[in-house]
Parts: sequence; structure tokens; C-alpha cells
Amino acid sequence: METTDSISALRGILGSRREKGKTISFVPTMGALHKGHKSCIDIARSLADVLVVSLFVNPTQFGPGEDLNSYPRPIDRDLGHCRDWGCDVVFLPTVDEMYPIAQDIWVSGGRLSKPLCGRARLDHFRGVATVVAKLFNIVQPDVAVFGQKDAQQALVIREMVRQLHFPVELRLSPIVREADGLAVSSRNAYLRPAERVLATGLYGSLCHGRDAVIDGERDPVRLCQRIRETLCSGGILNVEYVEVLRVEGLVSPETLEGRFLLAAAVHVGSTRLIDNLVIEVGPDGGVSEVELF
Ligand code: AMP
Repeated sequence: METTDSISALRGILGSRREKGKTISFVPTMGALHKGHKSCIDIARSLADVLVVSLFVNPTQFGPGEDLNSYPRPIDRDLGHCRDWGCDVVFLPTVDEMYPIAQDIWVSGGRLSKPLCGRARLDHFRGVATVVAKLFNIVQPDVAVFGQKDAQQALVIREMVRQLHFPVELRLSPIVREADGLAVSSRNAYLRPAERVLATGLYGSLCHGRDAVIDGERDPVRLCQRIRETLCSGGILNVEYVEVLRVEGLVSPETLEGRFLLAAAVHVGSTRLIDNLVIEVGPDGGVSEVELF
């Protein structure tokens, strides 16, 4: 496994592999690797000859007062995982390498960045889209893998790839969960034991919403209300949002038909957690859980 913090060294390494006809897959991460990342890495490993993983805590996607400084950075552990999981090249740039001058040219997250997490995290998706655009230009992967855990992020990146003509194929990993359903996240480490117990209510409430749709609920407003009530009765009182949106365009549906995203963000203690389910209501009224894309 090769490791570098330099853009030019990475270009050298990948250029010579590309000249030999090798294909490249890429998983961008902020490190603190866990089994959710492993799922993305496993998929990427199976899709190309050379697997590149980046470890970079991107400052421009954090807002004021967010956890940029306290975000975990267990570099040695991460490199061990990358080796064990079959990565060929790890790119771990410094902030100065990625942002050598004050950034004043941005890739906007576009309309898909406005609802859901975009309401409270104003410039978050601009930071994500900009750093992913930089990384795509640096790595020039044939295929890149993202997690459905960050469904809105995946949709923003897909739209960026379409609108800016990046020659990269996107693939998704399903959400990897703990045994009790909590979506695996680097931020779960912040949860105190009692909070960790409460946190399972997030996925539980989305499942309750899905079951309500299976039982015939077709009103999106009432569905959100039911999910909120389940969160509240499970002791999760600080709800940032519960939204039900069409996957196409992330717009509010009048009634629940087709493919839609059931998504929530909550605060448990000082930890912000997000989760989602994608549900399809077919023309025959059949309800199934499906992948985002
Ligand atoms: P992050 O390091 O949080 O920026 O995540 C890097 C990639 O891993 C993103 O594409 C995430 O969506 C994905 N990811 C994070 N957690 C999970 C999870 N529990 N299941 C699947 N993918 C995940």
C-alpha cells in the first residue's frame, strides 16, 4: 500500500498505473474508519484494479460551532484498516495541500442542498461538493463509491457529476448498522452510554414510519408527525428535522407514490445524528424499501 500527502506524488503514482491500463476506484472519507467505510471500500475494491482511499477532514464542510477541531483523527488505526481492507493507495493531504490559497471559487450544492441537512448546515454541501470536485480532479477515478448513510450528499454529488460532466461512475453502499439498528457513524463515539441507548430510537422511528406506509398511510405531513411522535416517546426531544421528500429533486410530495426518502436529523446530548430510509410505493400500492439509486 502506498501512502502520500502530496497531490503531485499521487498524480505520479496513479498516472503510471493508468498508463498500464489499470482502472481506478475511489472512496473519499474523513477517516475514523468503521464498518460503514469498509462497506464502501469493499464495493470499490471489487470495481477496479487500483483502489484509492482519501482520509481528509475537510474544514469547508463544517459550520461555525461544529466539531471540526474535535473530529476524531486516528491516523495509524485508519492506515491499518486501509491495509487490511485491500487499499492500494491512501491519500491523506494536509489542509494546506487541499486549500493552498483562500478558496473563493466554489462548487455550489445546488437546489438539492437546500432541504434536509442544508437548512441547518448552510454551506455544508458547498464544502462537500467543492472538496469532492477537487478530489475527483486529483484522483480522476473511473468509479467512486459513497454511502447511502449520507443520502443527500450522494444526490448532490450525483447532480454535480451530471452537471459538470465528471467522467466518473458513482456507486452506493447501503447503510451499515449496528445490531440494534443505529447507523454506524464516526460521531457515535461521542455518545454517552445512556445516549447510545436513546439513539436507537432514530432508526426505530423511521421503521415505524415505513410500517405506517405499509399499513396505508399516504399523507406525507401526517407521516412526518407520526415519526416525530415516535422519536419523542422514545426520549429523543431535540429533533432538527423529519422530512419525507421525493428522491427525484428532493421536493415535497403531495401524496406518497413512487420513490421517496424518509430522513431525520436529531441531537442526542451534544451529538448530531442522521438517518434515512428509501421507500417505493408502486402503482399497485405495494410498498418496498429500495436503494437511493
Ligand atoms: P465520512 O468519513 O463520514 O465522510 O464518510 C465517508 C463515506 O462513508 C461517505 O460516502 C459516507 O456516506 C459513507 N458512510 C459513512 N457511514 C456509513 C454507513 N453507516 N454505512 C454506509 N456508508 C457509510
